[in-house]
Amino acid sequence: MQWEVLRPRDVFEAVTLLKRPSPRAVVMGGGTWLMQQPNLAIDAVVDVSALGLDKSLVEGNLLRLGAAMTHAALIEHSLVGAHADGALHIIGKGARYTPDAWRARATLAGAIVTAQSASPLIVALLACDAEVVVAGARDRTKEIQSPRDFWKVIPLAGFLSYGHRVLEEGTLITEVRLPIPSPDTRSAYVESEHDPALNLAAMFAIKDGIVGNVRVAVGGIAPKPQRLSRLEFGLERKKLSDWLDSELEAQLALLQLAPAREAHVRALVHNTLLQLAQ
Ligand SMILES: Cc1cc2nc3c(=O)[nH]c(=O)nc-3n(C[C@H](O)[C@H](O)[C@H](O)COP(=O)(O)OP(=O)(O)OC[C@H]3O[C@@H](n4cnc5c(N)ncnc54)[C@H](O)[C@@H]3O)c2cc1C
Repeated sequence: MQWEVLRPRDVFEAVTLLKRPSPRAVVMGGGTWLMQQPNLAIDAVVDVSALGLDKSLVEGNLLRLGAAMTHAALIEHSLVGAHADGALHIIGKGARYTPDAWRARATLAGAIVTAQSASPLIVALLACDAEVVVAGARDRTKEIQSPRDFWKVIPLAGFLSYGHRVLEEGTLITEVRLPIPSPDTRSAYVESEHDPALNLAAMFAIKDGIVGNVRVAVGGIAPKPQRLSRLEFGLERKKLSDWLDSELEAQLALLQLAPAREAHVRALVHNTLLQLAQ
């Protein structure tokens, strides 16, 4: 592996390096995935470890997690950590699935770019309504680019489906943004007891049995983890116990899963949401 290592001093220099046609370079976060891809058609890696992207910041009710935060840092974080009080603790819980040996190096952005069908961290981030902030994006609808076009905020669900095209433009993920849920918000991350390749993260606020801000993400049913948007919409501001079964059936009909997989998803979603509501 003879990649040149480029060390930009700021985000703008990093994007300039990534956009050059030659030498062809990609971002290196912790390198845990890249180092296992010796045959990648690249000449150089852009090391982003000195760009200050390893910090987090609270702005009002918005939490900004730096793209280079490690999984170890997420696990220990005061708001998203596995032992944090609030609903965002499912993020730290998801990060705990990364093997010990990789946690101190593997980064948040690296996990998003390499997301697998049931990546626990990504399932949890989806249920937390995460957005991905990208530097160096072009607004294709405008001929003249304004400096503001340099930044793009993309919902994680969208980034998982078309983010590779955004990255091919020579862009850089700089942070992940999340709304900080109200203190009465409940959340859970669980795996199916019938099918270890199936997992779920859910979050909602509840009062008198009525749920709001419902978010449900499932891993293991598609190439990337997915939000169950039909179910979320169908349950919003409704009494969960009255509406869960019918809205879940409407969602399952859209997913068109094999019968056994559908039964496992039904059980997982049904049991998790009802337990969370108790
Ligand atoms: C055996 C094993 C099991 C694992 N299990 C899990 C698991 O359960 N859950 C989990 O989340 N992770 C797991 N990981 C780690 C995960 O697979 C990735 O290796 C890791 O999250 C990648 O992070 P990294 O910073 O090392 O990425 P890198 O190896 O540095 O990069 C990975 C990809 O992301 C791109 N990239 C990185 N940072 C940026 C950025 N800021 N902007 C744009 N592109 C970027 C790179 O260009 C590259 O394409 C596991 C790893 C191993 C080896």
